[in-house]
Amino acid sequence: MNISAMAGIYIHIPFCKQKCHYCNFFSVASSKNKAEFIGALKKEIKLQKNYLKNEEVKTVYFGGGTPSLLSVFEIENIFEELNKYHNISKNAEITLEANPDDLNTKKIQSLSKSIVNRLSIGVQSFFNDDLKYLNRVHQSEQALCAIKQSQDAGFKNISIDLIYGIPTLSNEKWQKNLNLFFNLNLAHLSAYSLTVEPKTALETLIRKKKIPPIKEAESIIHFEELITQTEAHGFIHYEISNFSKEGYYSKHNSSYWLGGNYLGLGPSAHSYNGVSRQWNVSQISKYILNTKGEAIFEKEILSKTQQFNEYVMTSIRTVWGCNLEHIKNTYGKSFYEHLARSASKHITEQRIKQKGSVLSLTRLGKLYADGIAADLFKD
Ligand code: SF4
Repeated sequence: MNISAMAGIYIHIPFCKQKCHYCNFFSVASSKNKAEFIGALKKEIKLQKNYLKNEEVKTVYFGGGTPSLLSVFEIENIFEELNKYHNISKNAEITLEANPDDLNTKKIQSLSKSIVNRLSIGVQSFFNDDLKYLNRVHQSEQALCAIKQSQDAGFKNISIDLIYGIPTLSNEKWQKNLNLFFNLNLAHLSAYSLTVEPKTALETLIRKKKIPPIKEAESIIHFEELITQTEAHGFIHYEISNFSKEGYYSKHNSSYWLGGNYLGLGPSAHSYNGVSRQWNVSQISKYILNTKGEAIFEKEILSKTQQFNEYVMTSIRTVWGCNLEHIKNTYGKSFYEHLARSASKHITEQRIKQKGSVLSLTRLGKLYADGIAADLFKD
């Protein structure tokens, strides 16, 4: 599976119906400022028209928050504005993250005739007790119905998200979730281990012993089962949390992991152009009130070491791996030697494999991806 980095645009829609207990993404549980937000977003689209220097934009990603809270008219209206000021490819991958409870028959029909050509549906589990633990709005039935109706409406590029390591999710139930996914004949799965992020409701509830805590050991069992089962069903494990049939990987996310340039629009969205990173204010009122014609963001020029660490962190988690030749050519001999040296013990202990100049994780290494990446960083 070949892919190269390409430019992309991410649009953050910061509204949700309610906050899921584990979520630390920036969003608010109300859409009362939606119209003003769209006005401000259109303004930012214009303000940032030079960020990608007219590079052809091959992917557009509506993420959040809950972008499916927007009407199809609003989504297309935003896209028209993008088209006015950015060089969007005619064949761009256009993804919409959607929650099952928003995907009714009418909406799906309308989406299938829109510019959206990829759906990423937040299923998380096909069991209602897991959904309750996570404080998701939808019911399992709604997810199954939304997926089937989207397929019937002609969507071929559909991904779902599943979460494992939920205390209410037994090994047997996880197996059933995976079987349901395989039976649905979908081409892409994103599967994440439930983690307790600081300042989330999940953290508070576990600390106050109101709900059971997460068991790390169970998460590892689920992850190993996930790798075995997806491989047996012909999926490519192309990033630590992402599995796809050939040709159906997320171009947007892959490009980001490969170091491509991207522009992030909307509150809290990040942008990267290879040299600097910038991130927008994480407050809707401030974002909307930006009437001075300046985008509200903070900016950081990345040092060579930061760029190297960034590349190592994202690339080692992918099937394309971390390329020593690229390191030598881009960052110089000392970075190359550092990486070769720090990777050697992981190669000996079979957590990293080397093919030509490419380093990638072995099956064992995938269990320790974050720790290994940190070990390869340069100070
Ligand atoms: S729907 Fe998504 S963004 Fe919104 S609270 Fe839940 S996990 Fe977070």
